[in-house]
Amino acid sequence: MEPPLSPASTATVPVSPSSHNGSTEDCCVKVAVHVRPLIADERAQGCKDCVTVVQGKPQVQIGTHSFTFDHVYGSTGSPPSAMFEECVAPLVDGLFHGYNATVLAYGQTGSGKTYTMGTGFKDGCQTGIVPLVMNMLFSKIEALKHQTEFQLHVSFIEILKEEVRDLLDSTSVNKSDAANGHTSKATILGKPPIQIRESSNGVITLAGSTDVSVSTFKEMAACLEQGSLSRATGSTNMNNQSSRSHAIFTITLEQMHKLSPVIPEDNSLNGSANEEYLCAKLHLVDLAGSERAKRTGSDGLRFKEGVHINKGLLALGNVISALGDEKKRKEGVHVPYRDSKLTRLLQDSLGGNSRTVMIACISPADINAEETLNTLKYANRARNIKNKPVVNR
Ligand code: ADP
Ligand code: MG
Repeated sequence: MEPPLSPASTATVPVSPSSHNGSTEDCCVKVAVHVRPLIADERAQGCKDCVTVVQGKPQVQIGTHSFTFDHVYGSTGSPPSAMFEECVAPLVDGLFHGYNATVLAYGQTGSGKTYTMGTGFKDGCQTGIVPLVMNMLFSKIEALKHQTEFQLHVSFIEILKEEVRDLLDSTSVNKSDAANGHTSKATILGKPPIQIRESSNGVITLAGSTDVSVSTFKEMAACLEQGSLSRATGSTNMNNQSSRSHAIFTITLEQMHKLSPVIPEDNSLNGSANEEYLCAKLHLVDLAGSERAKRTGSDGLRFKEGVHINKGLLALGNVISALGDEKKRKEGVHVPYRDSKLTRLLQDSLGGNSRTVMIACISPADINAEETLNTLKYANRARNIKNKPVVNR
């Protein structure tokens, strides 16, 4: 691989809401469901499997309810790589064309989000979506290096109670702080808190977080490992913090084309964009457990805050709802990205030209039936972004 470019001082291509042309065709959210098998604990409790994956269809049934998604992956039948190939690989391809992207794992605690994303080191670094993304990225870079110089950056943060915590900051005092039951990390070292900033062209950046420049799979895997371990350590000390926090592994890909630039598939990145330079990022998000998010409201479309509800999930639901309502979008309805740190951070990578995949993780156990149904309803609403007919009885 070529040596990395010098730190980016070049203008960033505005792959952001400001570059969106507003057409709904561009707004692409795919929703997949991942049903994990019954785990030993559930078997020991005598739980029954109450979720049916319909053979040959992307359909899942629970009780009298039936939902159709873009894809459904059951515990048997689909090879583990199928989800990656169908849902995530197109987003990695899009990165090379300058499109931001987001993969969200949603579901109650214990439903398999961390397992699916591969953001938990105890499940091994080589399984799950993040390592598969890394494999694909480095293979593509290897194949393209004769015509393009690449630079990759990684950040890994966690949002807990609306505070951003740097999982790659080795000098962080989080661990000792966590032992005292506090979440604030900045105070002891006098480090300023991490801030989410928006540039004039709509690009969102994190100020104050560690941004690691990597040029090999091994280096990127080391970041994944370090952040995963940091998160896990925090969680044992903090009453299972990981179920209440969003973990976001972000890969930024910068490209400088030596010969002819890769033209975006639909030529949409024109105008002020420097055609020789592209910059795009992929957020891989292991969301907080959804079990406290209750849907309320007469129209069923608004999430209202209850006791202990996770602000990020609440806001994400409302952003998805706003993005998915074509009529309201045509009327220029406000998308409430600013309502939480999570949605603010994802603002330039959720909706518009960017590509989003939500993977709803569910347990098949009957004791989890109510939460599983809530997850499927939430995911079903995300799917409405494409305004496809919904099969939902
Ligand atoms: P979450 O992150 O949603 O809280 P985890 O990913 O930690 O859930 O998964 C909970 C448990 O279920 C873990 O022990 C994990 O190893 C297991 N698990 C999750 N998904 C699968 C799967 N597809 N196949 C086998 N075991 C799984
Ligand atoms: Mg988890």
